[in-house]
Amino acid sequence: MAKKTVEDIKELKGRKVLVRVDFNVPLDDKQNITDDTRIRAAIPTIKYLSDKGARVILVSHLGRPKNGPEDKFRLAPAAKRLSELLKKPVAATKDCIGVDVDKAVAALKDGDVLLLENVRFYKEEEKNDPEFAKKLASLAEIYVNDAFGTAHRAHASTEGVTKYLKGYAGFLMEKEIKFLGHLIENPARPFVAILGGAKISGKIDVIKNLLPKVDTLIIGGGMAYTFFKARNVEVGKSIVEADKIPLAKEILKQAIDLNKTIMLPIDHVIADKFDANANSQIVTRAGILPEWQGMDIGPETVTKFGHAIKKAKTIFWNGPMGVFEFDKFAKGTMAIAKLVAEATEKGAVSVIGGGDSVAAIEKAGLADKISHISTGGGASLEFVEGKTLPGIACLQDK
Ligand code: AMP
Repeated sequence: MAKKTVEDIKELKGRKVLVRVDFNVPLDDKQNITDDTRIRAAIPTIKYLSDKGARVILVSHLGRPKNGPEDKFRLAPAAKRLSELLKKPVAATKDCIGVDVDKAVAALKDGDVLLLENVRFYKEEEKNDPEFAKKLASLAEIYVNDAFGTAHRAHASTEGVTKYLKGYAGFLMEKEIKFLGHLIENPARPFVAILGGAKISGKIDVIKNLLPKVDTLIIGGGMAYTFFKARNVEVGKSIVEADKIPLAKEILKQAIDLNKTIMLPIDHVIADKFDANANSQIVTRAGILPEWQGMDIGPETVTKFGHAIKKAKTIFWNGPMGVFEFDKFAKGTMAIAKLVAEATEKGAVSVIGGGDSVAAIEKAGLADKISHISTGGGASLEFVEGKTLPGIACLQDK
């Protein structure tokens, strides 16, 4: 699984390196970057290459442009922010291939950094068109992938280019592979996975792949109610995926066969409607009122889940324990965030896989207490599902 990294590249001085980064940052309507986390995450790799005298050519996508160039998807704001962070000029081109790009690349001096325009302005990118990949590859001598968030997609800039250039992992990519790989290859035990969020669908393969590997699977959030239905527990108006009830039954049976523990909530915070200011009350597992719905795990559940989390040596968390966007129903998720952070301080390895659980841990102010927060939502889930990620598979093995 280990891949060659930028540190395995023998000679960097004067060499042109094409680096796939993920600068898909959120912008407001005035083109201001509202969160530069993704740019910051790529700095160690860019700085390393630049400091070693490489000529760094960055390529990224931004948003989902449909028909060629669109001003709102231009990468100029990212170039500006990157320049501030690196404290050096960053040139930006108005295209990602073509004569002007060739000129800009030819003008690069050792240590310079250039950001190409949004690679998704070409439909060939997502089609992984070999000619387009060849044009991108022709800009450089070495390829580095540091964009974990798009590694589950075989696109020209994430996979196609490696037909023409040798590929290495950047530091961010290396860290993602290390932590996510640890979960599925060699987790310290007990290994506790905490899954939440609205639905089972989308996480079925994660559950199926993780169940044989974990010691305890904790299920909270909306997805718990489909499991309750599978056990004939009444759930009122709570979110249920009726078509997934047989699957939930199968998973519960599989856990028994594999001798694994699945933990479900033992009490709930219920509401009379789906609203931030809804009336609420705490009820036991079987006490959900017919017209009410489960919005969060209750305090007894936090204590119960806490026993398992405190003992864990490896923790994977994906999905909130309730409707954490509403403060009234965020307590369970915040309590789990705290428990995961405390377990990490005591030596557990904790990995949070993208999406809403990242927002939750940030809301709790505990992001820096976690071993690894994945930068890729979809990519981290596919990794944990045991799938081969094309953007990683194509990089050279150690
Ligand atoms: P996912 O994208 O599947 O991880 O789901 C995240 C969403 O699940 C968040 O927006 C939560 O508000 C929502 N969620 C968590 N618990 C519940 C619940 N009990 N009822 C409805 N939605 C929930």
